[in-house]
Amino acid sequence: MSESKYSLNTSIKYLKGVGPKKMQAFNNSSIYSVNDLLNYYPRRYLDRSTVKLIKDIKIHESVTIIGNIEVCGIRRTRKRSLFEAILSDGTGFVKLIWFNGAKYIKNLIKKNDRLAVHGKIAFFNGYQILHPDYDKIDTDIDPINTGSIVGLYPLTNEFKKVKIEHRFFRRLMKETQQYIDKIDDYYDSQFLVNEKLISLKKAIKNIHFPNSPNNLERSINRLKFDEHFFLQLLMVLRRDSLKTIHTKPYKIGGNKGKKIIDKLGFELTNAQIKVINEINNDISGESAMNRLLQGDVGSGKTIVAILTAIVAVENNMQVAIMAPTEILANQHYQSFTKILDMVQISCALIIGKQPKKERKNILTALKDGKINIIIGTHALIQKTVEFKNLGLIVVDEQHRFGVLQRGNLISKGVQPHVLVMTATPIPRTMAITYHGDMNLSIIDEMPKNRKKIITKIVDDKRLLKVYDFMKQEISSGRQCIIVYPLVEETEKSDLAAATDGFKKLKNVFKNINLGLIHGKMKKAEKDLIMSKFVNNTIHILVSTTVIEVGIDIPNASVIVIEHSERFGLTQLHQLRGRVGRGAAKSYCILVERKITQNSKKRLQVMENTSDGFIIADEDLKMRGPGKFFSTEQSGFFNYKLADMINDGELIRKARNCAQKIVDKDPKLKNHILMKERLIKDYSQYFDTIQIT
Ligand code: ADP
Ligand code: MG
Repeated sequence: MSESKYSLNTSIKYLKGVGPKKMQAFNNSSIYSVNDLLNYYPRRYLDRSTVKLIKDIKIHESVTIIGNIEVCGIRRTRKRSLFEAILSDGTGFVKLIWFNGAKYIKNLIKKNDRLAVHGKIAFFNGYQILHPDYDKIDTDIDPINTGSIVGLYPLTNEFKKVKIEHRFFRRLMKETQQYIDKIDDYYDSQFLVNEKLISLKKAIKNIHFPNSPNNLERSINRLKFDEHFFLQLLMVLRRDSLKTIHTKPYKIGGNKGKKIIDKLGFELTNAQIKVINEINNDISGESAMNRLLQGDVGSGKTIVAILTAIVAVENNMQVAIMAPTEILANQHYQSFTKILDMVQISCALIIGKQPKKERKNILTALKDGKINIIIGTHALIQKTVEFKNLGLIVVDEQHRFGVLQRGNLISKGVQPHVLVMTATPIPRTMAITYHGDMNLSIIDEMPKNRKKIITKIVDDKRLLKVYDFMKQEISSGRQCIIVYPLVEETEKSDLAAATDGFKKLKNVFKNINLGLIHGKMKKAEKDLIMSKFVNNTIHILVSTTVIEVGIDIPNASVIVIEHSERFGLTQLHQLRGRVGRGAAKSYCILVERKITQNSKKRLQVMENTSDGFIIADEDLKMRGPGKFFSTEQSGFFNYKLADMINDGELIRKARNCAQKIVDKDPKLKNHILMKERLIKDYSQYFDTIQIT
C-alpha cells in the first residue's frame, strides 16, 4: 500500500459506500476528508451504565431505553392528532407520544423499528415519554448483552435522506480507523505526561470506539483540552502581539482632567480612582493599552472613559468612542460635550443616517485633526473614516460587539490604546476565555448615593395598582419607563407590542405625557423623544428594547418590564440599571405574563439580588453560553465537546500551557502542527497576530 493512500487528507469518496450523493451530504456538513470524519464525534453513547431496562425505570427519571416498536400510528383526539408508539424491550412497555408533527413522525417511525429512546419518564395509565429524542439503531447494537460502548452520531436530515444512518456511520468509522496511525500529536510526549493527557491517536480512536468507560472519559478530556487550548493559544498570541505595539508614553496629570474632577459635583469612588490609576499606568507606558473595564450598570464607567480621553487629547492624540446603538452614542455625545465644554475640547458625533454634508464636514475635520474626540456606533469602523492621529479607542458595552471588531479600528490608528467597557460581569473562567487577550480592571463599588432598587414580580392582575403607583411617582416629579420585549419571530411584532401597549397606556394615563420610542424610528424622531424625556416633558417613556444599554436619566424612578419572562437575566439587569441613577428611591416592576416554573425561578433571582456577577452567573447556568452570547459570538468558541461553564480547571490548565509555549516559541516555529490547526480554526480572529 502506498503512503499516500493512508493520508488523513484522503477524500472520503475513497471510502467504501460513499458515492456522489453521500459525498455531497457530507460536504454540506463540512466533511471532506478522512480527517474531517475522524473529527465528527458521537453525540451520545449507549452502554450498560446509560441504558436501562424498562422493568427498572422509575417515574420522572431521564433514561435511555433500547427496544422495538410493537405498534404505532396516529390517534385523533377532539382537539388534535398525535402519534403514539409502543416500545418494548422484552422486560416491559413504554408508550412514546408526539403531540406535534404527528404526520411527520409517522414517516420516520415504523413497526418493528429498533430505537434507542432518550427522555423523561412520565406516568399516565402506564409509563410514557413525551416527545422523546431517539436514534434508529440496528440489531447489532446491543450494549446491555455485549457490554460494548456504542457511539451514536449526530444524523442530520440531510444525512438520513441519503441513507447515512447509524449502521453506515459505524462501518465508515471502522474503515477510518486504519488511518489513525497517521495522526500526529500537537504536543510532545513529555508534555502529555506532564499534563496527564493521552495521545491524540488514542483519544480519536476511543472517542469513536471506546474500549472502556474510563478510556472514553480520558479521550473526551484530551479532546476538550485541545479545544480550550487552541482558543487560549489565540488569546495569548493576541495579547502578546498587542504588547509589541509600541507607543509614545502619555504624560499624565494635565490641568484639564483636574479641572473636571473639581467640577463634577460628586467624589469619585475608590474603585473609580483605582481603575483610573490602572489605566494611567498603561498609557504612560511604552506599549499599547489593552484593557477591559468591567463595572456593573451605573457604577460610573463613563467618567473614567472621559478622563482617559482627556489624557489622550492632552497628549495631542485623537480618541474614538464606539457605542453599540445610536441612542447610546447620542447619549455619550451629550455627556461628553457637557463635560468637555468646560475644558474646550472638541467632540463630534458620527452615526449612520446623518445628512451627507454634515458627515463630510466631520470626516474632513477628523482627518485634519480638528476634532479631538469622535463618538459613534460601528459606523466608526467604516473605511471612510480616517484619523489624523488616533491614539485611543474606547469601546462601550463590548458585549454587543463580539471579540472581532477591534481589529478594524486598530488598523486605523498608528498605535492606539484600547479600552473596552462592559457592564456584563462575566464569570472568571469565562473572562479568561472570552477576554483572554486583555488586562482586566473592575469597578466593584457603586457610587455612595445609590439606593437599592426595589424589584417586584407582578402578574397582570396587579398592573392597575402598579399604574396607580406610577401616577403617584409622576405627580411627585419622577419619570417612568415601560419596556416591551423583542418577540422572537419578527421585529415587527416587537414594535406592534409596544405600539399597542402605547395606545392602551394613553387611556390609563390621561393627563400624563407619554412618548413612544423604538428602533424603526428615524434618528431625528428618536432624538426628539429622548430630549423630551431628558427634560421631563415626557413623563412615561414607552420603549422597545432599544434603550437596553446605557441610557442615563437620573430622574427616572420606575421601570416596568412587560413580558419580563422573555428576557435573559443579564438583559433584565441592564434594564433595571436604567433607574436608580439619581437620589430618589427606585423601582423595577417585572410583569410576568406567561408563568412557567423556569421563568419564576429566573425572575426571583432578580428580586433577590442586584449583584451583576451573581446574575450573570445564573443566567449563564440557566441559558448556557449559546444564548448568553450572541450567535456570532458563540460561533467564536467553536466548541464540540468543551464547555465553558464546567471546564474551569481545564481552561486554566490550557491557558497556562498556551502561555508557556508562546513564551518559548512566540511564532510557533517549532510547533508546526499546532500552528496549522490554529490557522485553520482561528485565522479570522488573528487581528494583530503575526506568526506566518
Ligand atoms: P455606567 O457604568 O453604567 O456606564 P454611568 O457612567 O452612566 O454608568 O454613570 C451613571 C451615573 O452615575 C451618571 O449619572 C454619572 O454621572 C453618575 N456617577 C458616576 N460616578 C459617580 C460617583 N462617583 N458618585 C456619584 N455619581 C456618579
Ligand atoms: Mg455606560
